[in-house]
Amino acid sequence: MEEVSCCNCGGYFIPDPRQKSPRYCSKPVCQRARKAAWQRGKVRNDPDYKANQKQCQKEWCEAHPDYWKEYRQKNPDQAKRNRDLQRVRNLKRNSRDRRTCSLQDRRVNASMIAKMDASKSRETSGHTFSSGQFWLVPVIAKMDALKVNIYKITACCE
Ligand SMILES: [Zn+2]
Repeated sequence: MEEVSCCNCGGYFIPDPRQKSPRYCSKPVCQRARKAAWQRGKVRNDPDYKANQKQCQKEWCEAHPDYWKEYRQKNPDQAKRNRDLQRVRNLKRNSRDRRTCSLQDRRVNASMIAKMDASKSRETSGHTFSSGQFWLVPVIAKMDALKVNIYKITACCE
């Protein structure tokens, strides 16, 4: 049996011959990713499943009213990341709802992503540059956002 690359970790593994199209290796984290991907597809394509999931989540939230509040208190970085990403999602949805994505909308999107979390910004010969922490949010591929630090380097040879 030939080795194949795992969709989640990129590592090579020898697939189980009983699986028709093995795309994930057996590591627990990759199996969780496989299940999450399956669930995302199911929610997208099966309205009954989506309604059922929504109802289950609602019941769970009612049974654990303080869970998310406590989660946000315990994980402030994660909570901030989720808030920032939600802002980007809202913006994307709003421009989709308007059915048009004008140049102005795209500029707003770009500045929204770029300026998030900026610690300071200043005007340099007509261009605004912000140093700080940013989330690089992939627009096309379904992948996780990446947190990066961006620093301004002042040119010394002018
Ligand atoms: Zn893997």
